[in-house]
Amino acid sequence: MKIAFYSTKPYDKIWFDSLNKEKYGFTIDFLESPCKEASISLARGYDAICIFVNDYVTAPMIEELYQMGVKAILLRSAGFNHVDLRAAKGKLEVLRVPSYSPEAVAEYAMAMLLTVNRYTHKAYTRTREFNMNINGLMGRDLFRKTAGIVGTGKIGQAMIRICQGFSMDVIAYDPYPNSDLSVKYVSKEELFRNSDVISLHCPLTEETYHIINKESIDMMKKNVYLVNTSRGGLIDAGYLIEGLLNRTFAGVGLDVYEEEEGVFYEDRSNDIMRDEILARLTSFPNVLISSHMGFFTREATKAIAEITLENAYALDQGKELKNSVVS
Ligand code: NAD
Repeated sequence: MKIAFYSTKPYDKIWFDSLNKEKYGFTIDFLESPCKEASISLARGYDAICIFVNDYVTAPMIEELYQMGVKAILLRSAGFNHVDLRAAKGKLEVLRVPSYSPEAVAEYAMAMLLTVNRYTHKAYTRTREFNMNINGLMGRDLFRKTAGIVGTGKIGQAMIRICQGFSMDVIAYDPYPNSDLSVKYVSKEELFRNSDVISLHCPLTEETYHIINKESIDMMKKNVYLVNTSRGGLIDAGYLIEGLLNRTFAGVGLDVYEEEEGVFYEDRSNDIMRDEILARLTSFPNVLISSHMGFFTREATKAIAEITLENAYALDQGKELKNSVVS
């Protein structure tokens, strides 16, 4: 089996190369190019392409892949909103990594919350310059505060456990409540009204697109913390900025951003920032932005490689494709 591996970064090879050599022996060509219209022709001659979160495959690109004889898209992610699944049906298999380390993402969400709340990032830079002043670094206890978890799937559940470990009162919203969880489900509106911390863990769908918008922000308590490690499209960034300006938010942690494609994962430090919204967001002292790295632990990246290669193996051997997302 020949796989064209798009958007390769040095850290991708650590597991993919060694596991492939050890166990599978596929031909994997590691391409640096992202997967987009202009680079889809690179897939000619391959059986499958392997893509990451900021790659995308539109309906015309699916058609091109199909015409080239490519049989599958291997996603190195759980989310699949970047592939036109309707167009793929009957033409290409799309296989994902449904779960690799929910804890990695949830622990990162808590790290973002603790950072924007307790200013550890600022303390780090201050003390390195021998500025031992703590003015402006006062945070808030999380103990007994209310954490509102939107989406109680694998990552949401891990976040619930972490928040309960901090003795927070946890409430949750999910249209498909899980009765096995020891958490109080409330309506979306109640969650927005009553939470001191809101952490987003639902997928990006038509329903959740801009779930954080003017209306929901208007419902929130003053000085709420918002953390998004899910997908950028969950937040209407224009209204988020308004909420930051009127001090609705005490702190905001964003590991994802609606317009991150082509920007996140790249070193653009010598470029002029053209995205006015991103430029504005980075200017707030209480906003922490990171480059979609909630998943980025040794355990998670290893699991991503294992499951992706296992998906390729199942495809190659004509076995059951349990991680298919094309129905
Ligand atoms: P999951 O499928 O296990 O859980 C998603 C949950 O969201 C489900 O319980 C589902 O019922 C719920 N949901 C669906 N529609 C909803 C709605 N309208 N409102 C509220 N909840 C809704 O997914 P997961 O593994 O927990 O991942 C959650 C999201 O995290 C993914 O969709 C992905 O976008 C994101 N993610 C980010 C990173 C990162 O590095 N930052 C890594 C992995 C996943």
